Amino acid sequence: MGLLAGVSSEELIKLQVGSFSGPLSPDDVTAIIQATNSLWLYPGEFRAEVPHAKLTAGDCSTGFVNLRIVMSMTNLCDVLAAQLVALLRSCHKGSVDCVIGSDTASLNLAYAVGRLFGARVYPMHKVTVKECGEEVEKQKYTGPKMPAGTKVLRVEELMTTAKTFRLVTAGFQEANPETEFIPFLPLVVDRRTVREAAVDGVQILPMVRYEIKSWKDDCPLCALGSKAIRPNTPEGWAELTTAA
Ligand SMILES: [Zn+2]
Repeated sequence: MGLLAGVSSEELIKLQVGSFSGPLSPDDVTAIIQATNSLWLYPGEFRAEVPHAKLTAGDCSTGFVNLRIVMSMTNLCDVLAAQLVALLRSCHKGSVDCVIGSDTASLNLAYAVGRLFGARVYPMHKVTVKECGEEVEKQKYTGPKMPAGTKVLRVEELMTTAKTFRLVTAGFQEANPETEFIPFLPLVVDRRTVREAAVDGVQILPMVRYEIKSWKDDCPLCALGSKAIRPNTPEGWAELTTAA
């Protein structure tokens, strides 16, 4: 439990920077995300009578987290941004001149974090390009060229495989080769319970970690007879969250 133990969902979604002081615990962060109805985790052992989530891409999953809902609430986005800045400051005191985050999920967060440093923020753009006849996803930077020596902080709301994080790094670096990345990544949710201490020499600073398993085929929960439900409809959400 943490600072926000016992605070109701209605109060949690109205939280402001300054409503409390000190670092939020992983349980606090979970409570905030749950208050916005954007987190569901499979409860306990796999059982036939407990349904599981069917994600938009068609994968079966033991969890659903949609931080875009949280980040659309600018008060909560500001609360999380302030916490991420404190987390960074506990291990890095140097200047932050520019903040970037992946398109589209982390744009609001990058802006909120950048404002706390008085730093520059220019959005990355998710694009699909053809390379060798194959469609490849990229994160492109089309903003003004940042001066040499600019200290660049990357932030993300969610990390699973680090693929998008690497695309952001590559896209920004291509357009701004003389800038310097800060070797820490403040992150709201890490979907890996165990991750190497660093990704590409960057230390991940997550507020909370969830172990969520996903399957494209051969879902063991479907095999067990558990129902697969889409969480992003009101009926599906109600069915998932009321199951024991
Ligand atoms: Zn399944």
